[in-house]
Amino acid sequence: MRNDELNGIKPTTSAEKPATDTQADNISHFSFLISHLLKKYWGYDDFRGIQREIIESIASGNDTLGLMPTGGGKSITFQVPAMAMQGVCIVITPLIALMKDQVQHLQQRGILAAAIYNTMSHDDVLRTLDNCILGRTKFLYVSPERLSSQLFITKLRHMLVCFITVDEAHCISQWGYDFRPSYLQIARIRDIQPDVPVLALTATATPQVVTDICDKLKTPESKPFNVFRMSFERKNLTYIVRRTNDKMNELAHILQHTQGSAIVYVRSRQRSKEIAQQLTVAGISATFYHAGLESTDKDQRQRDWQDDTTRVIVATNAFGMGIDKPDVRMVLHYDCPDSIEAYFQEAGRAGRDGKQAYAVLLIGKQDFITLEQRISTTFPEKDYIRQVYEHLAYYYQIATGDGYGITHEFCVEQFCQRFRHFPPRVLAALQILQRAGYLEYSDEQDNQARLHFLIGRDQLNLLSNLSATEERVVTALLRNYGGLFADYEFINESEVARQCGMKEQEVYLVLKGLSERRILNFIPRKQVPQIRYMQRREDAEHVMLPPDVYEERLEQYRQRIHAMMDYARRDDRCRSRLLLEYFGETSTHDCRQCDVCKGLSDHDSEAEAAEAIRHLLSDGKPHAISELYSLPCDASAIDAALRQLTSEEHVQQQDGMLKLKS
Ligand SMILES: [Zn+2]
Repeated sequence: MRNDELNGIKPTTSAEKPATDTQADNISHFSFLISHLLKKYWGYDDFRGIQREIIESIASGNDTLGLMPTGGGKSITFQVPAMAMQGVCIVITPLIALMKDQVQHLQQRGILAAAIYNTMSHDDVLRTLDNCILGRTKFLYVSPERLSSQLFITKLRHMLVCFITVDEAHCISQWGYDFRPSYLQIARIRDIQPDVPVLALTATATPQVVTDICDKLKTPESKPFNVFRMSFERKNLTYIVRRTNDKMNELAHILQHTQGSAIVYVRSRQRSKEIAQQLTVAGISATFYHAGLESTDKDQRQRDWQDDTTRVIVATNAFGMGIDKPDVRMVLHYDCPDSIEAYFQEAGRAGRDGKQAYAVLLIGKQDFITLEQRISTTFPEKDYIRQVYEHLAYYYQIATGDGYGITHEFCVEQFCQRFRHFPPRVLAALQILQRAGYLEYSDEQDNQARLHFLIGRDQLNLLSNLSATEERVVTALLRNYGGLFADYEFINESEVARQCGMKEQEVYLVLKGLSERRILNFIPRKQVPQIRYMQRREDAEHVMLPPDVYEERLEQYRQRIHAMMDYARRDDRCRSRLLLEYFGETSTHDCRQCDVCKGLSDHDSEAEAAEAIRHLLSDGKPHAISELYSLPCDASAIDAALRQLTSEEHVQQQDGMLKLKS
């Protein structure tokens, strides 16, 4: 990688240098440069949709908001201009898994990218930030929580930043379905670098949320945002709502009569497993996926599905973010999501390749009751929330006035068992306490694997019963990590695997085996939820839950649930149209492929056929049935119309002849 391409608009050869410094030349030069970068690093010939407009807006220093549906090519809109500009691009994104994924993709393209996340050591964080100051990093990914750290703020003052990208920007809005208080920190870092523009990106935002995003991100001096919106219409995606009280049968039936890769979304981990098993019994290749699986297991299942070894993946909503499989033919919802936003995002994972795909929502009578109940589960009584807060303090033995800034591991099952709570309600209470600023709850803390030898080096050397692969793994471990005999050390399983020329799963099995033989103790990589006290512990009765934390949010949640129920219940408006209208897009046409459109058009053509039959028979003479099929109507519509006319006794059939009844 050449530095001049990384660090500025400087052309790669002198021939590309603009002859004069006029603005027009600069613009055409920039336009040339971004096309060149797009081709060179991403291999595309041209920008799609509104990508170019967004890029030109942010590169000219304007605060910019881009609304693009999933699969619209969002990352290009910040990665390409950043490559063409001087300085580091700071990318704020809430999902650690996604962050690591993107950094890896950029690195594979030879681009200098780094991320800061919670499990990194202080030294690593320091080095990463210093690299940004020294111009050795083009993209720095950070979680919003990181923005308030003093170290980050100090270092940020010394960085040359081209612009700040806020991904999943709807998280900054109180009205967004996925509001995260830590996103409000973003406005504060704008004070440190007031001249640096912001690029906000989101795949789901109602008009109210759009206004709120711009409002929350603006500075007193900044000009209004340039807002670019790409139509959320997905022409190749057919939306279907299937009403049934036997979902399992319906699901198996649909999958048996279709082909291609599919995702089935459910809301419980347990159910993901059960359904995958039942599908397998029904002869459909299926596996399951949820956040509670071990990471190697998750990776394996995801890979099998990705390369079509497994056809169907039955998953909770933990599955999908950052997964880029273009040829998913169907996304089925076994359980109903609690907002149109979530539904649209999940359903939108089908058909990214532009070919025909289906989004099917299975809904039964019971679902409407369950959806209504979700409102009270998600917003438990205030007294209950205070009780959870108090039980937490008992659980961790934190005295009133203590606890500030301390992080604890949190096992929801254990907590619930001890205090006789119901997990979904506890998690809901934690969300509300987080919104009120008392604590922070994170369930995607990715803890690295740890390892410790239980025998000494001498004993290890004396072992004669290690297999060749075990030898290789042990050698790699000893070469990379110095203190494994003294204590636990964090190890990187994929790095060890790479050095041994083995698969990660194989290394995992070797380490498990050595663990069982008490040669070492291996704690695999896993996700441990954590709770961090953001304030000193209060007495429960002093816990404040103001309207913007409780009542207003409750009302919004209720509205979202009801919008979702409305989508599932209605059959008088094109589904695609209904979804687009929810996001403030006025669509001028019906999609003509959803179940509603199909239902209406069948109805229309049947009426047309009936009219044509009546006209043919209006001469009062008998006509052969075969004559009907020369009418300019669909054969199935003619059959249906004829059945209807005969049963209503408008038409009389005798010896293959038809006559109007007088
Ligand atoms: Zn339609």
